[in-house]
Amino acid sequence: TAALGYHKVVKENMYLYNMVQDLKGNIRVYCRVRPATSPEAQNAINFIGEDGSVVVQDPFKLQKDGRRVFRFDRVFGPSATQEEVFKDTQPLIRSVMDGYNVCIFAYGQTGSGKTHTMSGPSSGATKELGINYLALNDLFQLSNRREDLIKYEMHVQMVEIYNEQVRDLLAEDTSTTKYPFYSATLKLEIRSCTNDNGLTLPDARMHYVKCPADVFKLMKLGEVNRAVSSTAINNRSSRSHSILTIHVQGKDVSGSVLRSSLHLVDLAGSERVDKTEVTGDGLKEAQYINKSLSCLGDVVAALAQKNSYIPYRNSKLTLLLQNSLGGHAKTLMFAHVSPEGDSFGETVTTLKFAQRVSTVELGAARSNKESTEVIELKEQARRLRLIENLKK
Ligand code: ADP
Ligand code: MG
Repeated sequence: TAALGYHKVVKENMYLYNMVQDLKGNIRVYCRVRPATSPEAQNAINFIGEDGSVVVQDPFKLQKDGRRVFRFDRVFGPSATQEEVFKDTQPLIRSVMDGYNVCIFAYGQTGSGKTHTMSGPSSGATKELGINYLALNDLFQLSNRREDLIKYEMHVQMVEIYNEQVRDLLAEDTSTTKYPFYSATLKLEIRSCTNDNGLTLPDARMHYVKCPADVFKLMKLGEVNRAVSSTAINNRSSRSHSILTIHVQGKDVSGSVLRSSLHLVDLAGSERVDKTEVTGDGLKEAQYINKSLSCLGDVVAALAQKNSYIPYRNSKLTLLLQNSLGGHAKTLMFAHVSPEGDSFGETVTTLKFAQRVSTVELGAARSNKESTEVIELKEQARRLRLIENLKK
C-alpha cells in the first residue's frame, strides 16, 4: 500500500505542480544587489522595491537616458542574508526530491557576488555559506525524513566549461600522484542523446555521496582544481563556467524509480570586453564567453516565450544542460549587480539580459502573488498529509 501511496503522492504533486506552474511559469529571475565596497562610492541603485522592482540611475549623469526601472520575481538588497536568499530558493531545490530537474544560474559581471551567492565568501569559510551548501544540507535532511518511504541515492559531478571545452573538476589524473588530481588535458564529450541514466556527461567522474560532508569535500577539491588551472591563464575562474550537479535517484518500496538532477552553475563574468584592447587568448576567451552567455539567454528566453524551437546546440553550456532546461524542469537565474556608479553600464546590461529571460506571464503571476503563494502552501500541506497517511 505504501507503493500505491507513493504513486498517489507523485500523481497528486504532478497535478498541483502543473496548476502552480501554469500561474508561475518554469522560469524565475531574482536580482541580488551586493553591498558597496566603499561607503564613499557613488550609488547607482536608487530604489529596491518589495514588488521586485529595482531602479538604477547613472550618478554621473553621463547618459541621457540615465534612469531605468526593472522588475523581477524578487530583488535582494545589499543587506539580504544568505539565509534569506536561500529561503526563497528552497522550494525549488526541494522539488528535485520529487523528481524535477532544476537549474540555478548565477549571472553577473566579475566581482558582482556570483560565487558569494553560490558557494559563500571564500573557500574555507564556515559562515555565510552559499546556496550550494545550504541546498545540499537540505536535500540530505529531506532524504532522511522520507527514509521509510523512498530510498534516495545521490551522486555528484563537477565540471568547468572554458573556451567551449568541458573539463572534469573531480577527475583523478592517473599520470600523477600529486594532490590535487586534476587533469587539465581531460576534455569531455557531451552526449546530447539521453541514455538510460539521462547523463549528458557520462565520462565525468560520478562520486557517490552519503552525507553533506562528502559533497563539501568534493566541492573543495573542485574549487582547488579550478584554482590550479587558473594559474596558467590569469583570472581563469572568472572566465569559465563551473557546474556542480547532484544526481538524485529515489526508489520506493515497490521498486519504481525517480530520477532528477540539480545543477548549480556559477557562470563566467558577463562583463563586456573592449575588443580593441584585448588580443590573443584574451580575445578568444571573451568571444567564447560572449557566445555562451548570449546563447544561454536565447535558450531561456525561447523557453520563457514557449517557442517551439529552442537553440540548445549553440553552446556547450546549453547542450550540457539540455535535459534540465525546459520541459518540466525549473530554472532560476540570479542576476547579480554592484550598486556602484562605476558599474552603471554593466549593471544596466546585466539587468536588461535578466529582464529578457523573464517572462510576460511572470508579470501576470506577480499580481497574483498571494494566490500563488496560497496554492504553494496548500500543495506543501497536502503533500505532507499524504506522506503522513502513508506512514500510518
Ligand atoms: P563574482 O563571483 O561575481 O566574481 P564574488 O562572489 O567573488 O564575485 O564577490 C566579490 C567580493 O564581494 C567577494 O569578496 C565577496 O565576498 C564580496 N561579496 C559579494 N556579494 C556579497 C554580499 N552579498 N555580501 C557580502 N559580501 C559580498
Ligand atoms: Mg566568482
